[in-house]
This record gives sequence, C-alpha cells and structure tokens, in this order.
Amino acid sequence: MAHRSEVIYDRVSTALARLKLARVADCLDTSAAEAATDKVTYLEFLDRLLTAEVAARAERDIALKTKLAHVPFVKTLDQFDVAAQPSVGERQVRELATGRFIAPGENGLLLGPPGVGKTHLAIALGMTAIAQGISVYVLTLADLVEMLHRDLKEDRLAERLRTLCTPRLLILDEMGYVPLDRVVAQFLFQLVSRRYLKGSSIVTSNKSYGEWGDSVADHVLAAALLDRLLPVSTTLNIRSQSYRLREKRQAGVFHGLPTTPLVTDAP
Ligand code: ADP
Ligand code: MG
Repeated sequence: MAHRSEVIYDRVSTALARLKLARVADCLDTSAAEAATDKVTYLEFLDRLLTAEVAARAERDIALKTKLAHVPFVKTLDQFDVAAQPSVGERQVRELATGRFIAPGENGLLLGPPGVGKTHLAIALGMTAIAQGISVYVLTLADLVEMLHRDLKEDRLAERLRTLCTPRLLILDEMGYVPLDRVVAQFLFQLVSRRYLKGSSIVTSNKSYGEWGDSVADHVLAAALLDRLLPVSTTLNIRSQSYRLREKRQAGVFHGLPTTPLVTDAP
C-alpha cells in the first residue's frame, strides 16, 4: 500500500494540474523542502507558492499582449540612455514612464532625425501601456501602406479600419519616410478621426508637421490629419545626434571623419 504522504502528493499534483496552477506545481517540491528546513508557517508557505503563480501569470500575460501588439523588438524606458539624448530630459522620461502620456484619447508625437530613439521611446511607451493592461498595436507607415494596398484589392478596407480602431494605443512609426497616396491618406484620416478622443496614438516622424504635407498625396488631408492629432497631444522634439552613429563613432568607425551629422543613417 502506498505511503500516506505519497497519496497526498499525488492528489495535490492532480489538483494543481486540474486547476492549471503550473507554476505552483513547478515550485512545490523546492518550496516544500524549504518550508521544512526554514520552518516557515503554513501561511508563508502558501504565500510563496501563490506569489510565484501570480508572477508567472503576469509574465505570460505581458508576453502574449506583446505578441498581439506586433512589437518588432522589445525596448524599455530603462534602456533609454537619457544622458545621450539631452533634448529628452530625465524628468520627461520619468513623466513618460507614468503612462499619463497615453491617457485615453491623448496622442504623442515623437519628432526628430533618424537614429535618435523615436522608435525606441514609442515601443517603450507601448510596453509601459501593456504592463498597465492597455491593448497596443504597433505599425510602421510602410507596413500600413502595404497592408492597405492588399486590403484594397480584397475589398477589406472597412474591416481593417474597424480592426485598427480597437487597440487603445496605436503606434504609427516612421511617418514621412514613405509617400502616402490618396487611398492611404484617406484611410489614415478616417482612422484618426474615428479614434479621436477615444483611442490614443503615438506617431513618430523624421519630418516636422509643416513637411508632412510633402509625403502625403493631398495637402488638405495632411492638414486634416494634424487637426485631429494635435489638439490632444504632447510633442517630443528630439534634436540630438543619432545614437546609432554615436555608438559607431565611439567604436572609432568614423575616425578621422568630420563629426557633422551624416544623412546616410537608415530609418
Ligand atoms: P529612430 O526611430 O529615431 O530612428 P531608434 O529608436 O530606432 O531611432 O534608435 C536607433 C537605435 O539606437 C536603437 O537600437 C535604439 O535602441 C538605440 N537608441 C537610440 N537612442 C537611444 C538612447 N538614448 N539610449 C539607448 N539606446 C538608444
Ligand atoms: Mg524609427
């Protein structure tokens, strides 16, 4: 006949599997052994197991939401070197980290030349939002153009509009690098209009607002787009040198070359 403790162990293992408490099951042996030697109370033992389960679920939830958000690579505000980018003060980064920047209906515009950390900051803000349980979707304008041309052929533009209205935070990266034809510009205007005061958007661009019209097929649409974005927005102008080139410069790649900003930095 099986030993009583083995019977109990089997029953606990079965219950944990049925209740889908995978992390508790993983930690059970170690925590039980620790509890025996550390002489922890029953309550402390239970607390350790449940804390581990809660942490594991939060981690899984964030990983899933990050995947759904279509985040190209994970960047965090902690990884942002404030000293390297004096035009984005430490106070401003701390303010961004609170997530108030992405309060319902508010928009963020990150402007500046290539390589200064616009995408990094936009994604880091997205990660902050995800950690707060906010649904996020990240899209480059080049991706959007490709997507919309496919949708146009398949007569799915209306469906796409509905889908892109759902995330509470929409990150549109790299406005100004690719020209936007009338179909895309009109779609973008409809999207921003529908999201107005409901969803938040973060737009990054290497162009100033005044120059947006040059990359959008229709100047009137460009102005209308800004009219929906700007009234409830915070703009962050990043003026410093490219961080990418700075790293290369520090590694001596440009030794002997002038240190004036180069225009060859890819987006
Ligand atoms: P942009 O979108 O403005 O062209 P990115 O955000 O893609 O620039 O930044 C280029 C690279 O440099 C990325 O790998 C990014 O993580 C890094 N980077 C830029 N600025 C900083 C910074 N201040 N601290 C740390 N990494 C940075
Ligand atoms: Mg970028």
